[in-house]
Amino acid sequence: MSLEVADLTFRYGSKTALDAVGFIVPPGRFAALLGPNGAGKSTLFGLLTRLFTAPSGRIAIAGHDMARSPRGALARMGVVFQQPTLDLDLTVRQNLAYFAALHGLAGREARSRIDAALDRLWMRERASEKTRDLNGGHRRRTEIARALLHRPSVLLLDEPTVGLDAAARTAITDHVHALARDEGLTVLWATHLTDEVANDDQLILLHQGRILADGTAHELHGATPLREWFLARTGAEA
Ligand code: ADP
Repeated sequence: MSLEVADLTFRYGSKTALDAVGFIVPPGRFAALLGPNGAGKSTLFGLLTRLFTAPSGRIAIAGHDMARSPRGALARMGVVFQQPTLDLDLTVRQNLAYFAALHGLAGREARSRIDAALDRLWMRERASEKTRDLNGGHRRRTEIARALLHRPSVLLLDEPTVGLDAAARTAITDHVHALARDEGLTVLWATHLTDEVANDDQLILLHQGRILADGTAHELHGATPLREWFLARTGAEA
C-alpha cells in the first residue's frame, strides 16, 4: 500500500516551509527523504501525522485520504518520531503493551503481536528489561517494534538514527531496509545523512521546501558519490 503526497504547500507566517511538494512511494519501497537541516522534513512529517494540516494539497496513506478519512489514514501508518517517546520506567514489553492497549489490543492477541514485533527487531530477549537500561540503538528498535504493532502498511521515521553510534545506526538502517524488502512495508525515512541511503532506494531530495529530485538513488547520482551529488545540489555539509 502506497504513500501519496501531492501539491503540498505549508507556511509558517510568511516563511514557506513546503512548496508544492509531491511524490509517491509505492508499496514495499524504502524511500529516503534526504535534505539538509531546514529543508522541511519535520514539517512534512507534521503534516503526514496530522500534527497540523496543510491549506492545500493532498496526502493519501494506503489509499485513505488524510483530509476526508483521517482515522483510516492514520490507522494504516506507523510513526517513529525524532524525539524518543518511550516510558523509561517501563520494560520493553510494558511499553509495547501500553501502545497495544491504546489500539484496543489486549490478551493473547496483544502478546502474540508484541512477540512478533520484538522478533522482527531482534529485541525479544530484552523484553523484560527496563527501557532506561537499554542503549540508544535498542531503545530505537523498541520504538520501531512498537510502531509495527497495529500492522501498518506505511512506516514513517523522522531522522531515527540521531544520537546513535555508527554501529547502531547501521544496524537500524539495515533492519528497516529489510522490513521493506521482506515484508512489503512502505517506508519513508527522513535523513540528512547520505550513508543511510542504499543504491536501490527511492531517493527524494528535499531542499528549501522543494523536491529537487525523485528516483532510484543510483540512477540519480550515477558515478558521482551520493555525498558529492548531495553537496552539489544543496550546498550542505553531508
Ligand atoms: P528539517 O526538518 O528538514 O530540518 P523543518 O521542517 O524543521 O526542516 O523546517 C523547514 C523550514 O521551516 C526552516 O526554514 C525552518 O526554519 C522553518 N520552521 C520550522 N518550524 C518553524 C516554526 N515553528 N516557525 C517558523 N518557521 C519554522
